[in-house]
Amino acid sequence: MEYVAPSTLEEAYRALDADDARCLAGGQSLVAMMNLGIVSPSRLVSLRRISALRGITAERDGSLRIGAMTSHAELAALDAPVAGAALLAQAARVVAYPAVRAFGTLGGSVAHADPAADYPVALVAADAVIEVGSAAGNRRIPATDFFRALFETALGRSEIVTAIIVPAGPAASRAAYEKLSLVAGDFAILSVAAIVERTARVAVGCCGPRPILATGLALNDTALREAARKIADASDPPSDHRASAAYRRKILPELVCRAVRAAQQ
Ligand SMILES: Cc1cc2nc3c(=O)[nH]c(=O)nc-3n(C[C@H](O)[C@H](O)[C@H](O)COP(=O)(O)OP(=O)(O)OC[C@H]3O[C@@H](n4cnc5c(N)ncnc54)[C@H](O)[C@@H]3O)c2cc1C
Repeated sequence: MEYVAPSTLEEAYRALDADDARCLAGGQSLVAMMNLGIVSPSRLVSLRRISALRGITAERDGSLRIGAMTSHAELAALDAPVAGAALLAQAARVVAYPAVRAFGTLGGSVAHADPAADYPVALVAADAVIEVGSAAGNRRIPATDFFRALFETALGRSEIVTAIIVPAGPAASRAAYEKLSLVAGDFAILSVAAIVERTARVAVGCCGPRPILATGLALNDTALREAARKIADASDPPSDHRASAAYRRKILPELVCRAVRAAQQ
């Protein structure tokens, strides 16, 4: 296996133009997959030296552009000025534990698209946009279209996730991320990201191959409980070593209500 560490995106795009070449970001998922023999890339293209993939900047329209190589730890420390970015920072704080957060990256997690991961849920709720690049140019894909199925995204072969754009949203909006896991630091049994203004926008994770999105949820108790129950009815949760599908469906309404109330506070 060949290892290359380009310092520009153009070099990285060229290096990825080979059968079975793969980006290496934090290595927290890829190296585990290589150790298990699930993937065996012919070439690893490290993104660590590419400065264009780093940094968090405020755009003119108030949105935040977060470089793909931003680590979970950097995001967790973000004092976010907008609700969507605050949601991402809250999700980053409950990804695994400090060692994983020091190396793992936002772009790596987004490209990996584990249905139990924390960012996809937060990004769908925040109505974020995934910026991707290749030798053919750049494109922007709404998070709602990016996550397609189990470990499957809209990312083309040789494309790199370059940044995540989180819109400012209304000034009065508030966000909360609720994650239920067996122990702190584990992947979620169920997760809910909520952005609340006059109504709630909610995304639910671990209840299907991609996050479930529900918008325009009324905030009064009865209507919210009813909407949360409808999300549970429409969900398709897995049964795995963490929890059964029936358990996930049963607790989903409660976690949705908890996330919305937490955002309001
Ligand atoms: C013990 C443990 C516990 C964990 N717990 C959680 C958890 O609770 N919640 C959670 O969300 N995650 C968890 N993770 C996963 C962690 O968040 C990883 O950091 C993340 O999934 C992958 O990010 P990475 O930067 O390490 O990517 P890598 O492992 O380097 O890459 C992952 C995949 O994405 C591709 N890739 C990487 N960067 C890019 C890019 N910019 N563009 C295109 N493709 C790219 C790679 O080619 C590879 O296929 C855990 C991991 C471990 C090891």
